[in-house]
Amino acid sequence: MARINEHYLDLAAGYLFPEIGRRVTAFRQAEPQARILRLGVGDVALPLAPAVSEALQRAAAELATGDGFRGYGPERGYDFLIEAIRQHDYAARGTEIAADEIFISDGSKQDAGNLQEIFATACSVMVTDPVYPVYVDTNVMAGREIQYLPATEANGFAPGPPEDGARADLAYLCSPNNPTGGVLSRAALARWVAWARDCGAVLIFDAAYDAYISDPALPRSIYEVDGARECAIELRSFSKRAGFTGLRCAYCVVPSACTGRTAAGGEVSLRDLWARRQATKFNGVPYIVQRAAAAVFSPEGRQQTEAQIAYYMENARRLREGLRKAGFAVFGGEHAPYLWLRTPNADPSWDFFDRLLRQAQVVGTPGAGFGPAGEGYFRLSAFADRETVDEAITRIQRAFAHG
Ligand SMILES: *Cc1c(COP(=O)(O)O)cnc(C)c1O
Repeated sequence: MARINEHYLDLAAGYLFPEIGRRVTAFRQAEPQARILRLGVGDVALPLAPAVSEALQRAAAELATGDGFRGYGPERGYDFLIEAIRQHDYAARGTEIAADEIFISDGSKQDAGNLQEIFATACSVMVTDPVYPVYVDTNVMAGREIQYLPATEANGFAPGPPEDGARADLAYLCSPNNPTGGVLSRAALARWVAWARDCGAVLIFDAAYDAYISDPALPRSIYEVDGARECAIELRSFSKRAGFTGLRCAYCVVPSACTGRTAAGGEVSLRDLWARRQATKFNGVPYIVQRAAAAVFSPEGRQQTEAQIAYYMENARRLREGLRKAGFAVFGGEHAPYLWLRTPNADPSWDFFDRLLRQAQVVGTPGAGFGPAGEGYFRLSAFADRETVDEAITRIQRAFAHG
């Protein structure tokens, strides 16, 4: 028998969403007439913007013509999309990113999971806790040690960098954050960049929710901080920004100045390593999907997708205020589509999950599912239609307003 990669056996059981499903099913069987409201998933709720859908259909029709047909595309992405990203996501905000530093992909989940391949197994990894599980699990699969930095109310859910001299080779940052809804200020990002440069670490900056930042003074890209080009890789996705969770399109920026080293001490370009990895293992994002992504940058596409984000953020505002009125301590929801609440009486987050389901028929996500520091907290998502959100607020207020 072939030996397996035993690091897979070191993974914590992926029980969060299956366990939620199991509890919801059991509740439904016990109370078949209950109308359950779901604020638990991290998936968008609104249909594709018309500009995106039209571009998709135009591109599909083009492929059915002799002149318009395309087979394999460039594995790094088509120039029309790379140029649009360069101009709209970077140059327009004063950041210069070269075309050969941008890699179009089929998702930030894949990029977040695959990037670790270009680093040595011996590299140490730092994450903030609670955490998007992909950063942890993909490094556990590779056999790496993980250090956790707790995100707490005391540090405004924006931990680190460590001040006790703790080092790491790779650190994953997610801002705006899933699940806490927190956001890193320019000063906080600058501290991380200074720490990374000091200890020779690479920062993997996941900006999947950058479009939800409502304060124009907050950085949307880590490259808005001086010195980040030498130490940071950035991930961005069309998933949450434009409803591409099913279509699949994202991109990764690896600046040419970002380097790693060999055991012998030689310096190697991370961009070149990543280009080699992608050329070997990836054959590109479908042409029609890249056309749809480019349409997000058209005047209509921007206006329509910004309206979708405004809709979700109005949901978040209502949830925040409604939950505060019901007596909850609520965080996040200002620059991210997630609300992070402290459970009443510091109840364990799975107990609160059951209580919310029983008393309000609302499904959320227990904080403990995102890491040890998530215990005692609970995530609610603003990715829902307005009626669901308003009804959920009414029910939660009815169930919890008097303790
Ligand atoms: C949703 C999400 C992504 C986006 O993943 P895709 O694969 O691009 O859909 C990335 N990071 C975080 C933290 C997310 O929540």
